Amino acid sequence: MANMKDYSNNIIPNWCPGCGHFSIQRALQVAASKLEIPNEKLAIVSGIGCSGRISGYMNSYSFHGIHGRSLPIAQGIKASNRDLTVIAAGGDGDGFAIGLSHTLHAIRRNINMTYIVLNNQIYGLTKGHTSPLSEVGFETKSTPTGSIETPIRPGIVALANGITFLGQGFSGYQEQLVDIIIKAIQHEGFSMVNVFSPCITYNKINTYQWFREHLINLDEEENKKPLNYQEAMNRLIETEGLCTGVIYQDPTSHSYLDKLQPEKKPLSHLNLKIPEEDFNNLINLY
Ligand code: SF4
Repeated sequence: MANMKDYSNNIIPNWCPGCGHFSIQRALQVAASKLEIPNEKLAIVSGIGCSGRISGYMNSYSFHGIHGRSLPIAQGIKASNRDLTVIAAGGDGDGFAIGLSHTLHAIRRNINMTYIVLNNQIYGLTKGHTSPLSEVGFETKSTPTGSIETPIRPGIVALANGITFLGQGFSGYQEQLVDIIIKAIQHEGFSMVNVFSPCITYNKINTYQWFREHLINLDEEENKKPLNYQEAMNRLIETEGLCTGVIYQDPTSHSYLDKLQPEKKPLSHLNLKIPEEDFNNLINLY
């Protein structure tokens, strides 16, 4: 029986005490332990930012990539090692500014992996400036008189682009977050979990208290049932993206990798120390 502690290493996170990212790391560890994923079958890929550190704190394979590029790396890992559970993790700037095009293409490609967005609506590592998800009027060092740009709503963008699994969580709702991450990992295709994760040092607006007052928890609604595509989009628009739960799941989703021709499967499982004649035959085959 796996334990969540089996998935942490001996590195002490240097996130600020109270940062929402602690809760996300813990939820990921609990989800991995409940699914009993062997450590050597788990790969975490992250981008740049405070969020990017998460890959270094997990007892698994990990890759701390470059800014906005966690998704291409993660998709490549999954395509060539399909028995791995692959998780990409990045901040809102990582996934919805510099890496936005990768996010959109990963969604439409639908490779079987999970993308966790550690969304604090600010760039924390660079000492707190406005991100594409910051609200209008948001004052930071880069927008001292308040942001005048309309924020991106990650859930709406993902759903409009055809995502087959969309979850939204909150660092303050640990139990629900674990449940969403488990379902996301089990989903057949690309799953995104957008997690509202307060930056307690630089974002003095979107605090734990603010989220508790503004988030709609879909799991607590009467007559709760899975939402179809249109209903999910309506809920996201009505709440301006401020809702948590499994927002949408396409039960007919099939991973991109399942659609590949059998002869296109990766070579990683083969022992390539083979006689020259067999090697040449193999090369001719591919
Ligand atoms: Fe977390 Fe913000 Fe501190 Fe970064 S600066 S570790 S996001 S609280």
